[in-house]
Amino acid sequence: MENVNWDQLFYYEDLVAYAKYLACHYSDLVQYESIGRSWDNRDIFLLKVGKGRDNVIVTGGVHGRESVNPMVLLCMAEYYCEEFRPCLDLVSVYVVPVLNPDGYAIAIQGFDSIKCEKNRRMCELKHIPYYLWKYNGRAVDINRNFPCVSWKKKDVNDVAGSEPETIALMELFQNVSSIGYIDYHSRGKQIYYHRKSMSEDYNRDQFGYACLLNAMTDYELVPPKREIEENDSGGNTVHYYSEQFCLPAITIETVDELACFPLSPHYQRETYEEIKLTPFVFCKDR
Ligand SMILES: [Zn+2]
Repeated sequence: MENVNWDQLFYYEDLVAYAKYLACHYSDLVQYESIGRSWDNRDIFLLKVGKGRDNVIVTGGVHGRESVNPMVLLCMAEYYCEEFRPCLDLVSVYVVPVLNPDGYAIAIQGFDSIKCEKNRRMCELKHIPYYLWKYNGRAVDINRNFPCVSWKKKDVNDVAGSEPETIALMELFQNVSSIGYIDYHSRGKQIYYHRKSMSEDYNRDQFGYACLLNAMTDYELVPPKREIEENDSGGNTVHYYSEQFCLPAITIETVDELACFPLSPHYQRETYEEIKLTPFVFCKDR
């Protein structure tokens, strides 16, 4: 992480290059893998970090404009290899730093980064400035695309699980036997943990993890009644994971609530310090 210049945000290509550097430099501990391709043919990549049997899955960059977390997650991977080696005998962290690479590219570089003309036009028709872009490369919100209890149809063509980014993560969940999942978003310095669709016992465990995460990060817990806002169409990553596997799944919102988009690069270092240990919250031998 000392190699990283925190005074800038990074292009998608920089993230790929850094992930490949980590896989090369720590080849005994880190593997780079593709888990899918976006509509615009960008690699949705995974870094598997560690050799342990307890697998934790973490994702960032589900929303394009949330540009701080992807590089922070890569730097966390590097930190574990440098400082956490014994722990990586017990735990493996499956890091998908940028689940929605097309959305990330749009938010950093603009709509010209979408090569497919039809999809680019679909995006432009939303009339949203590129640096506020949350969606994928054909204007679908990935965090409203997961087939779970809260998912609602938003228009006639809307189908849950329709997007390559959604499918890539669903397959990863299916293929890796994991003990928990964290999805990092921005903004708010908050922790979402409550699941209306799940049992009281499940929610009691979730609350326990949320309290541990609060102690690690100082981020506040979102009250259960605000888990899904009214009028929200649902279909989130964490809800899907909770319902499919009945294992802990938490959304962590980094960065000040009042931060403006495009997010200032200076949030990277402070976010890194705040969240770097959070993936280990599910481990028994913390
Ligand atoms: Zn988000």
